[in-house]
This record gives sequence, C-alpha cells and structure tokens, in this order.
Amino acid sequence: MTATRPSLRSLDEALESLLAHAALLPAETVSTFEADGRVLAEDLVSSLQVPPQDNSAMDGYAVRRGEIADEGVPLPVSQRIPAGAAPLPLQPGTIARIFTGAPVPAGADAIVMQEDTEVLEDGRVRIQRVPSSGQWIRRSGEDITRGSTVLARGERLGPAAQGLAASIGRDQVQVARRPRVALFSTGDELVMPGQVAPQAMKPGAIYNSNRFFLRSLLARLGCEVQDLGIVPDVREATVQALRDAARGNDLILTSGGVSVGEEDHIKPAVQQLGSLDLWQIAMKPGKPFAYGRVADAHFIGLPGNPVSSFVTFVLLVRPFLLKLQGAAQLQPTALQLPAHFALERPDKRREFLRVRRNGQGGLDLFANQSSGVLTSTVWADGLVDNPGGQAILHGDVVRFLPLAELLA
Ligand code: AMP
Ligand code: MG
Repeated sequence: MTATRPSLRSLDEALESLLAHAALLPAETVSTFEADGRVLAEDLVSSLQVPPQDNSAMDGYAVRRGEIADEGVPLPVSQRIPAGAAPLPLQPGTIARIFTGAPVPAGADAIVMQEDTEVLEDGRVRIQRVPSSGQWIRRSGEDITRGSTVLARGERLGPAAQGLAASIGRDQVQVARRPRVALFSTGDELVMPGQVAPQAMKPGAIYNSNRFFLRSLLARLGCEVQDLGIVPDVREATVQALRDAARGNDLILTSGGVSVGEEDHIKPAVQQLGSLDLWQIAMKPGKPFAYGRVADAHFIGLPGNPVSSFVTFVLLVRPFLLKLQGAAQLQPTALQLPAHFALERPDKRREFLRVRRNGQGGLDLFANQSSGVLTSTVWADGLVDNPGGQAILHGDVVRFLPLAELLA
C-alpha cells in the first residue's frame, strides 16, 4: 500500500473547508411544541402587540391620579375587572377593582396595589397615597411591538423561544429538517457492552465507547441517527457499510480507521466510492480527520481514540451540523479565565486541555491529558484552547470553552 501523507492543516483551515461544504437543508413545518433544539428557517414577525392591551401588574385598584390626595381620599368602586374581562371606561370620581393581568380601563392612569388601600365599612376604598404616573401598568407592546421580528432565521430554538413563538400566536414554525446521519465504528478490537461481559473479554478487546457518546451528541444536535454498528477492519465490509450508509443520509460519520496504517480501511474505501480529503489537523487531541463524499452524502471520519473523537466532534462536526441547519451561531462563547495550574511543556500543536472551574473562579487541569482517557472528559466542564507551543504559568488568563455549550 502506498503511504500518502495527509495534508497538515490548522484547525481554523479545516473548519473553514468543512463549513464551505455544509449546504443548507430544506425547511419543514413543525409544531411549536416539537421545536426544541431546531433551527428556525424563517423570521418570526409579530402581527400583534404583546401584551395586547395595557394591563395591571398587581391586584388592586385602577385610579385617576388627579382624584387622589396624599391625606387619603375615600372613593366608590364602580366596576370589578378580573383578568380576561373587557372593562368599561373608568367613571370620573370612582376607582375600579382590578386584578393582575386584567386590562386597564380607559381613563385610569395608575394602579394602586391593594396593600396600600383601606376598605371602609360603606364599601368605599381609601387610597393612602398618590401613585406615580403609570404605576403598576404593564404597557401594551412593552414585550413585543406589532411588526417586529421576535426570532430571526438561524435561531436555535429552546424552551424560552418556544414560549415566545407561542406568545405571538405561532402554533407551528418553519425549521430546517433534521440532518440524517449514518453512524458506524470501525475496529476489530471493539465489542459491545451487554454482548460481552467484562470477565469474558478476550485479550485485546475493548468496549465501543465512541458509539455511545457520538449517538448522544448527534441526537442533541437534532439529528436522526441510523446506527450501523461496528464494521470490521476489512476493506469489503467497509465499502459495503459506506454504500448502505450513503443511502438516504446527509452525513456518514465514522470513528476509527482514518490513520494510514494497514488496518485503516476508511481511506481506500471512501476513495473507491467517492472522494476523500484526509487531513492531519495540527491539534491535540485530534490529528487524523477525514472529510469526503460518498454518493450524495457527506462523509466525516473521526479518529478512534475516544477523547480525540469527542473533541473533534464538538469542535468540527458540531459546527458542521449546525451550519447544515442554517444556525447563525456555530461556536460557543469563550471565556477568559485564570489557570490555576501550570503547563510547563506545551505541545507544538494547538491543544484542547480538559479543565474544570473551581470555587475560586479559576481552572483546574485534569492530571492525565492522554487522548485515550475518557475520564478526563467527564470530569471536565470545559476545554482550554491553548495555542501551539505556549507554556501556561499559574495565574495566566486562558481561553475557556464551556462544555455545556459545546454539548448543547
Ligand atoms: P484507530 O483510529 O482506529 O487507529 O484507533 C485509535 C485508538 O482508539 C485505538 O486504541 C482503538 O482501539 C481506539 N478506538 C477506536 N475506536 C474506538 C471506539 N469506538 N471506542 C473506543 N475506543 C476506540
Ligand atoms: Mg482502528
């Protein structure tokens, strides 16, 4: 076999080429109830004011300020306005009983909360003090004005956005259709938990951990996953798996077998069926990473080492899948935080260190940063993005990428 040297790329270059291939998926209509995690394919423009009318923020009385005096004036109650009622204009010389969320009657210019009033025996109510203008009135349109865009195309919807869409009357929204992803793991050493008990493991066997986190990561990004299981390190089997995976899917995602060893069959198999770009990304963990096409599907090959697979997924595959769906924000918000550790011998490559925030506002480093140590990834709540060759001294401010965002 001829050993072709994969091209060495910076992470930014790799990401740029990858994103250039991510053409937008078509839109579909879904119920607003089902829209959590989906990316909006339209601007949501409000055809109404929210709230629709001025309404009371308190249980109390609607008044005309000019009729109240600081010594406390007793006034008769001319109407009762619960939430959902349509009030009459406020009669001069009277006040109206009003409840939270009820429309403010025409003529009233303030709400006095019931705690600041006294009900007299004859039914009149003494207002203790002159309210400020507009007090406890929630104005029509103070949340949303008619004609405004409340959520823009490219917004990834979450619970609050679902509520906001509903508040302007949208029971359905247009979103990008879910990416369809075929997933398989390569490696003759892999066995499945549940199929082989720990005591029965043959020498050299390991459990397939990548399959578990990759499926969950894909699901969190709104993907429909077709899981093709474990494919043995055999050329024909790899070709067949890729053919099956290409059918009806937008992306084929694999882990392992993308190095250029004799047991790495992904490269020739993808080349046989389509085209492949194999990259050595100048990052740690990570390094081997492949992008290509098989029939109409995108192909992404992740490294087999669990931490490499995890980190390259969150830094490359995640933005790719978000871009397919038209998301406006592809990257997490990085924070600048002090390192409460030192890195005396930095790698030449850009490194993504597994770290955790401590109670003193700084970052602790997981002791073993090896790309096979998945424990580091569970322990961590973020990655430090450290430029190649840069030592870190205790107290240095570093770039922190929160895993909470990278996993969302
Ligand atoms: P590869 O990229 O196929 O050369 O694999 C690199 C390392 O990752 C080897 O030690 C593999 O045993 C390990 N590995 C590959 N795939 C998986 C997987 N699905 N789960 C856990 N470890 C894996
Ligand atoms: Mg392998």
